[in-house]
Amino acid sequence: MKNSSIKFTLALLLILIIAGAFGGYFIINGRRDDDNNTSSTAASTSEKTPTAKPQSTEQITEESKTTTEKRETTTKNKNNNNSSQPDNSYAYAYAGFNPVLADINQSKWNLLLVNRYYILPEDYSVKLSVAAPGSGYDTKLDARVAPHYAQMFNAAKEDGITLVPLSGSRRISTQKNNFENKITKYINMGYSRAQATRLAAETILPPGTSEHNAGLAMDICSLDVSFENTAEYKWLKEHAADYGFILRYPKDKKNITKINYEPWHWRYVGVEAAKAMKASSECLEEYLDILN
Ligand SMILES: [Zn+2]
Repeated sequence: MKNSSIKFTLALLLILIIAGAFGGYFIINGRRDDDNNTSSTAASTSEKTPTAKPQSTEQITEESKTTTEKRETTTKNKNNNNSSQPDNSYAYAYAGFNPVLADINQSKWNLLLVNRYYILPEDYSVKLSVAAPGSGYDTKLDARVAPHYAQMFNAAKEDGITLVPLSGSRRISTQKNNFENKITKYINMGYSRAQATRLAAETILPPGTSEHNAGLAMDICSLDVSFENTAEYKWLKEHAADYGFILRYPKDKKNITKINYEPWHWRYVGVEAAKAMKASSECLEEYLDILN
């Protein structure tokens, strides 16, 4: 009697453990989908010249949301940066992505340029902290940036505006998983791995090339272009620079950023730079004079 009740308890425990593990798995995967694969509507603009410079002929959204637009093929000189040699060890070099390593040791960490030409090393890590503590949102940013977001969040709150911190820091490993999942999806549709990789990069940034991987950017309130019609967006346009944040991917700069307009993506650059960029209407690449 006693023995069988012990067996029964053990069996029950085992079932609970297995169920718990599955639950965790699904939660993680569900989150991943929310983060990056939401209703992608990217057009297939597979370029015919993969070996030339496919990255300069594509525009992608930093997240995954808006449609990729085909742009006139302007083969710009990609070698006008003064940085190191292309990092051919990059995992996606076979698909035409030949970025150099971002200068993570530069004195002005707040001006770190991260894009598809300047990537973070795979093991990049910074201290993170919650962006809007006490608000009920636990999204994190680089610990040097988080207090500025908190300040901005609180100031907006006083004006009756809630700057919901949707998505801040994102691990490079997560970015890589998202990207690989997308590649697999295209491979399953019959594309070669190189083609699949280029297509994936139209809707998800390759690992190490997102400002979220650096913990320097926050997606605020919504991942929809209609966010530009809200009071929250209007508030940000007016006040974000006072806290060091810029609209990173403006509508009229996508020929430079290579990323579609994202009214929700705000990047910390520091008050001085943010105000200067706001005044001159320059994007970060222009401000730094690092154009590809
Ligand atoms: Zn973003």
